[in-house]
Amino acid sequence: MMASVKINIAEDTMLVGIAAAPGIAISRSHLVNRDRMTVIERRISPEEVDPEIGAFKDAVERSKAQLIEVKDQADSKELTEHLYIIDTHLLILDDEMLIGETIGLIRGELINAEGALNRVLSKLRRVFDKISDEYLRERRSDIDSIGDRLMRNLLGETRESLADVNEQVIVVAHVLSPADTVQIDKSKVIGFVTDIGGRTSHTAILARSLGIPAVVGLETVTSLVPDGTPMIIDGSTGTVILRPSTETFRDYLEKKQHYDYLESELVQFRSLPAETRDGYSLALRSNIDFVEEITVAREQGAQGIGLFRTEFLFMSGEGPPSEDEQFDIYRAAVEKMAPFPVTIRTLDVGGDKFVPEFNLADEVNPAMGLRAIRFSLKEVNLFKTQLRAILRAAAFGHIRIMFPMISGVAEVRDCKQFLERERQELLSAGITCGENVEVGIMIETPAAVLIADLLAKEVDFFSVGTNDLIQYCLAIDRGNEHVAYLYEPMHPAVLQALLLICQAAKSAGIEVGMCGEMAGEDLYSLVLIALGFSELSMNAVNISRVKRIVRQVKISEVEQILDQLMTLATAEEVAAALEKEMSQRYPQVFSEAHF
Ligand code: PEP
Ligand code: MG
Repeated sequence: MMASVKINIAEDTMLVGIAAAPGIAISRSHLVNRDRMTVIERRISPEEVDPEIGAFKDAVERSKAQLIEVKDQADSKELTEHLYIIDTHLLILDDEMLIGETIGLIRGELINAEGALNRVLSKLRRVFDKISDEYLRERRSDIDSIGDRLMRNLLGETRESLADVNEQVIVVAHVLSPADTVQIDKSKVIGFVTDIGGRTSHTAILARSLGIPAVVGLETVTSLVPDGTPMIIDGSTGTVILRPSTETFRDYLEKKQHYDYLESELVQFRSLPAETRDGYSLALRSNIDFVEEITVAREQGAQGIGLFRTEFLFMSGEGPPSEDEQFDIYRAAVEKMAPFPVTIRTLDVGGDKFVPEFNLADEVNPAMGLRAIRFSLKEVNLFKTQLRAILRAAAFGHIRIMFPMISGVAEVRDCKQFLERERQELLSAGITCGENVEVGIMIETPAAVLIADLLAKEVDFFSVGTNDLIQYCLAIDRGNEHVAYLYEPMHPAVLQALLLICQAAKSAGIEVGMCGEMAGEDLYSLVLIALGFSELSMNAVNISRVKRIVRQVKISEVEQILDQLMTLATAEEVAAALEKEMSQRYPQVFSEAHF
């Protein structure tokens, strides 16, 4: 079924959404049938309870069978790497909160299956909407897509499969589930746009891995765009142009050729060292949330994992993972990444990073509440379990351990004491642990910046978490769109903070890295090299871009540029000076259109 509302679209109508996967696609729209379903809740008689539960269970089984089929059919390499997402959806289909509660409502409240399912899905969505951390909030899209599949199966509605698309199109959909995305044939679906979703939804992650340009979060695109509309999407800027004029068409064709050329050039950097022209080496590493991402990280040339966010292991819906379960995952990670190091960050939940199982209290000011290391030092059993698993896995390769959101020396000492005690306990029980596990901390609070010299004496390395550091330094909520305009990595206060951190690390002779999003933006690479960072950890797909800049600079030159930037008074002045510098040095990469 195609679009029900026909609208006259003016030439060159521009929509702006969230840039989810870079690249330009030019084609016609293919509207996918993902119309909202009409769900009717009604009271049922006690005799209807069992048949309703039976119908619901059938729908669950059908949904599972469909997902398993999608999984079996996915054969391309970049996709098999992501099949864990389908496993996650299969797990959700076994989740007590979804399945048990729906059945409970049918029986307890005497309402029909679709009404009960609808209520449970709404409740789950509300829980996820309250989360301010972008990545975690995005997990709501998993609930949306699995809920949609389950509901369609319950109502007997069919879904159009993307595997059936047979000409080159740009898919326009309300939402695409990872299972939909896995079915995409790249020679047919050359881009997609969706109403909902964010940069870190699994669908966006998949699109980046597949190299398909995508713009998400357009809110109303499915009701605006009839099937077959000529359109252009620019997944690097989040722009969508409907009914492009001849001139726009030519412009974008040129941009696309330029983009494709630069991309093809990037491949050559994968196997080259990240070394400046005067021989200064940087470690370019990858951030991961799941161990399965290591294969892609290696392919992209990552020399290790600079940030393994372990929160996601705690979100299976089945309670915290046991020591053995965690050990298996950490061990697999070091073995897959050998001989390079894997930096495991201990649990960073609480406040904005919400994990339903932990029943965290509602806090008035969650960003400053019981989160990250504060949570671990309170829930010591969880902390000890994680430390033991990490120590055991360290016997199988190079592991570094990292504590998040440190605000004082006492916290670091407490963490180290816990680590040492667990090591002793393991050893006295005859269990092997890794020796010389390096201990580091994330620098994410202004307090940590101001006492970086004292902290540097306590640890082996620093890693700067700019996502939080900028939030706390400039006092702006990183998840609040109303103050997003103030989120400025080139703010003089941020630059001063980075300088203090790097100077403290240098004086103490410890390594300093960065694992916030800023590390993966090639616009800032020159500044970060000049500041003295020895490790930059990022989404693996950005490694070659950053390396391209690293390999063209000389330390002496970049230090001069930094000195000049440090004299400027506003974020705008610094950003403008840097953009000018970068577009003069690298006109191919940083054309005016880039900014
Ligand atoms: C950061 O704060 O920059 C960081 C890397 O950690 P997270 O985004 O997980 O808070
Ligand atoms: Mg952080």
